[in-house]
Amino acid sequence: MNELLKKIYVTQPFLPPLEEFLPYLEQIWDNKILTNGGPFHVQFEQALCEYLGVEHVALFTSGTIALVTALQALRITGEVITTPYSFVATSHSLLWNGIRPVFVDIDADTLNLDPTKIEAAITPQTTAIMPVHCYGRPCDMEAIEKIADNYNLKVIYDAAHAFGVRDENGSVLRYGDLSILSFHATKVFNTFEGGAIICPDVKMKTHIEHLKNFGYVNEVTVIAPGINGKMSEFNAALGLLQLKYIDQVLGERRRIDGVYREQLHGIPGIRFPSMPVVSAANYAYFPILVGPEYPLSRDALNELLREHNIYARRYFYPLISGFPMYRGLPSAKRENLPVATEMAQQVLCLPIFPGLNEYEQKRITGLINLLAHNRKSEAIL
Ligand SMILES: *Cc1c(COP(=O)(O)O)cnc(C)c1O
Repeated sequence: MNELLKKIYVTQPFLPPLEEFLPYLEQIWDNKILTNGGPFHVQFEQALCEYLGVEHVALFTSGTIALVTALQALRITGEVITTPYSFVATSHSLLWNGIRPVFVDIDADTLNLDPTKIEAAITPQTTAIMPVHCYGRPCDMEAIEKIADNYNLKVIYDAAHAFGVRDENGSVLRYGDLSILSFHATKVFNTFEGGAIICPDVKMKTHIEHLKNFGYVNEVTVIAPGINGKMSEFNAALGLLQLKYIDQVLGERRRIDGVYREQLHGIPGIRFPSMPVVSAANYAYFPILVGPEYPLSRDALNELLREHNIYARRYFYPLISGFPMYRGLPSAKRENLPVATEMAQQVLCLPIFPGLNEYEQKRITGLINLLAHNRKSEAIL
């Protein structure tokens, strides 16, 4: 196909060379252990702990089941403070546990939960805070921890975007009571489907292992109405192989991120959300904010990009608080969420994935640049 017409999606999953995966499959076929904590599961868990720099990890079938189980493990009830500016699974995990989400507005710079607005949302029913490290940019963990300590609240981080992100002291996944990861195909690190809970100690990990296996402690003892959240050997083997490529993947993403910053720098009306200080970022997404000084609205720009076969995504629009199962909540009112509402109107996540080449990137930034100067007629590619 003509390079000019080639469709560019917001992401394209990274896959290791197929021939490297075949020996793993042969092993599975040979030993016939398919799931329930088989040899690849054990190895992947260890390798992940080492790579991430955390002590305990429990592997899951998905990030969503990990979130649901994390809430069960901590026996969270009542109300939980969370962000409307996320993927819908964040809040859905609360509803699946019969918990009422309480939406708090985000910070205009980082697009993460605004800690200065949390206290006002706390009620006697509040039991926890569930923030999201949006786009892999860490929340203000210290401020959140302080509030949680003062009010005796648990903190569960939805760290689905934050694989490999570190601050000056190590992995951001060590914050909070629990953190969860997603290894879905669209994420920086994928096992096709998969997820994990980062646990602080063996006791919590053991409890979570029981919960993800129907509540079974041994052959005859069931301690809770657990779920089936066990990662299969196929996904664990794939994870092990993917780990060999993660540094290459992150390096490639860093390069693409740098090119965008350079080529989009100074375009009137285009702004980048600010990045909190980290010692290792993961470049999971490349969000831009299309402000009023840009000649086109975000939606008009998105449409024009599509006409040129560039499929950016409006993460996160609509806000979670706008979906039918949430919009009746008092905290879901637009007046309560002015920043999130505005950001959801402006944000556009540009394609970023290993394999996006310079020519393709130039197609994207060139178009955004031309349109910024109202030269739509020249933008016929
Ligand atoms: C992807 C994602 C999830 C859900 O993870 P799955 O593995 O797809 O179930 C949860 N929260 C956020 C913020 C996500 O981006």
